[in-house]
Amino acid sequence: TFASQDPQFALPAPAQPGQALSQVDTPSLLLDLAAFERNLDRMQGRADAAGVKLRPHAKAHKTPDIALAQVARGAVGVCCQKVSEALPFVRAGIADIHISNEIATPAKAALLAALARRASMSVCVDDARQVAMLEDACRAADARLTVFVEIDVGQGRCGVKNAESALRLAEAIAGSSHLRFGGLQAYHGGAQHRRTREERRVAAARAAESAAQTVVRLDAAGIACATVTGGGTGSVEFDLASGVYTEIQPGSYVFMDGDYGRNEWDAASRFEHSLFIASTVMSVASGTRAVLDAGLKSMAVDSGLPTIWQPSPQALRYVAANDEHGIVEATDGTALPGLGAQVLLVPGHCDPTLNLYDEIVGFRDGRVECLWPVAARGLSR
Ligand code: PLP
Ligand code: MN
Repeated sequence: TFASQDPQFALPAPAQPGQALSQVDTPSLLLDLAAFERNLDRMQGRADAAGVKLRPHAKAHKTPDIALAQVARGAVGVCCQKVSEALPFVRAGIADIHISNEIATPAKAALLAALARRASMSVCVDDARQVAMLEDACRAADARLTVFVEIDVGQGRCGVKNAESALRLAEAIAGSSHLRFGGLQAYHGGAQHRRTREERRVAAARAAESAAQTVVRLDAAGIACATVTGGGTGSVEFDLASGVYTEIQPGSYVFMDGDYGRNEWDAASRFEHSLFIASTVMSVASGTRAVLDAGLKSMAVDSGLPTIWQPSPQALRYVAANDEHGIVEATDGTALPGLGAQVLLVPGHCDPTLNLYDEIVGFRDGRVECLWPVAARGLSR
């Protein structure tokens, strides 16, 4: 038979439900299900208590099983960052998806219009040409789309610069027969990872203030902002209390990556690390270092190298990432993990790390419980 038809040539799954965690093939992406469920419950509980809708960002996990777990707890839907990223979620039955981003080509507008015939879809604009393009695509597809005006609340990325520009765009949307004006997106990405609560409080307060002023300006012109959406894991505490945001869109709280772990938090906002990379010591020949099988191709390092979770998080340090090697050194004379030992890492940045794996291996009490396809992996178009 051809190799492609021979089961001997198929790559086995990294794990089987019921297996001990130590049996998982590496590098693999592990999810501590108990911590993950507590994170989901905690964020939903906080949003509910504040009377604010939760629309978690699915770019963090790219995994329909996780989106379904969020919606089951009360999330109104999810955010995606890209149109193609939304496809697996629509397919899995997520009925309401916000593209928290702009698009600028007819092909993307056409795909979004096609999705809008299957689910409630919304998208952001910060330019009148985007409005015209979306209207054309929706007319051609006979689709209806909700459109948000994104305002720049301090990040200097996307979004219009002032309330007058927001008003002009809102009027253009309201005047388009296939588009509905949804409200404002006011997201400040630059504020999320500022280390102290005070720095984040100040940035979040400015963002909320500028969103509030825009709402007032549109109101005065007779255009209501039904929804003001924004906020991430780092600013949730302030966004929920702002009285301005009607919806928050945090993503990373599900996993808490290493970088978020280094922020200062109030007790209620410190979510738990639930995401780990399982790696294996594949060489100890150097005598002074242990070499792991997880390097740059197994984790994003833009927010720093991973930290070691097990064994001995204090005494072992991951000091260098090569393509497929991770170098571990011991501080204070602690023994290095031996050949074949499993080492669990906390990745520095969860979103781009998820994008490197085909499945999440969920575990509980030291045993594999489930394998969840990262179905939106690689969908960056
Ligand atoms: N909303 C938007 C528009 C984003 O770009 C992001 C992340 O960068 C988020 C929400 C979620 O942020 P976080 O994963 O930090 O909670
Ligand atoms: Mn991120």
